Amino acid sequence: MKAFVLLHTEHGALPKAALETLNAACGLGLPFSVGIVGQGAAVAADAVATCGAATFAVVDTPEVAQPRYASDAVAATALIQAAGADLVLAPNTSRFARCLPGVAHRTGAQVDTHIVSVTAEGGVVKAQRWFYRQRILSSFSRTVCPWMLLVDGGVNAPWQGTAGTANAQAVAVDFGEQRTTVTGVQSPASDAQTIRPEAALLFVAGAGWTKKQKDGQYHIGEAGAIIQGFLGKAKASLGSSKSLVDLKSEGQETLSFMSHMNQVGQTGSTPRHPKGLSTCCHGEEPHAVGWRFINERRAINLDPNCGWAQGKADVVYVGDAFEIMGKVNTLLA
Ligand SMILES: Cc1cc2nc3c(=O)[nH]c(=O)nc-3n(C[C@H](O)[C@H](O)[C@H](O)COP(=O)(O)OP(=O)(O)OC[C@H]3O[C@@H](n4cnc5c(N)ncnc54)[C@H](O)[C@@H]3O)c2cc1C
Repeated sequence: MKAFVLLHTEHGALPKAALETLNAACGLGLPFSVGIVGQGAAVAADAVATCGAATFAVVDTPEVAQPRYASDAVAATALIQAAGADLVLAPNTSRFARCLPGVAHRTGAQVDTHIVSVTAEGGVVKAQRWFYRQRILSSFSRTVCPWMLLVDGGVNAPWQGTAGTANAQAVAVDFGEQRTTVTGVQSPASDAQTIRPEAALLFVAGAGWTKKQKDGQYHIGEAGAIIQGFLGKAKASLGSSKSLVDLKSEGQETLSFMSHMNQVGQTGSTPRHPKGLSTCCHGEEPHAVGWRFINERRAINLDPNCGWAQGKADVVYVGDAFEIMGKVNTLLA
């Protein structure tokens, strides 16, 4: 079986997700080769030259300097066909998640996404991924070749090793007519970005922050200041319960910096972080599903009988989140 690791650069180097996929491939024990798309691909190949790959191939032309479906799909197709690969491992980044299903169609491959484990025993490759909103873990294999696996970030340790000389071969690609021109990137200021996949802590805010408090009043402005103050100091990622993000669509006053992108749970996301702190949150879905991949979990709730906080958190602080997080912010300052 010929394994092929398809990677792309980001700002001229391999991103962490690419190094994680490379490490997963090294652990298979199969002979493999590496292909890299993007600006600085040849230099990136040298950076991982000692990973054990038999050969390195790159596409490092101006057409692939920016992520774009049309050019990335042609480049990835050329690399996979040049390698004659049976098994293709690639990181599940937004760049590849966008173009590789199309590449699978062009190469007659079968593609599976969100892979959390790949093994090869006795020549049989098996992959694992979660189904039904991370409730069922499935182990499966396919006979179709090539088989493309998009490996989820944050599951494997990144490859580490010394640089060398990869002698990467530049694969010629006919890009044809390119109708889309990338003119630039627009993104919010980094401190306005509340979803931080690399953060050590996921801070989950529940609807309790927007409920009447013990003085009979709403304190939504204060809640926003406390939460944003904490996120800024702890560099935590912000998750939310569904009830909290739904308030906006109901026309109620809520936390302005919160959107549906923050929602965790069955109908939200299941991010991976070493630690989690849920506050003013009672729901089953955020605690049972949204926290599935959080290693160490704590919760703050006024209600000592909050079953989900008790059932799913390692530590529950029974108290007022306004007071506790206010004190935490003071200590962090
Ligand atoms: C099919 C389906 C899918 C769903 N998917 C999701 C999902 O993906 N994600 C999700 O989040 N929900 C989901 N839900 C909704 C979910 O069941 C809950 O209704 C929701 O999570 C409750 O949100 P909450 O805990 O923020 O609010 P609430 O249930 O209103 O809880 C608020 C909590 O705040 C506490 N509190 C109030 N003030 C304070 C204070 N000062 N200090 C400390 N604690 C305080 C209260 O004691 C209470 O426990 C789904 C529901 C269905 C039916």
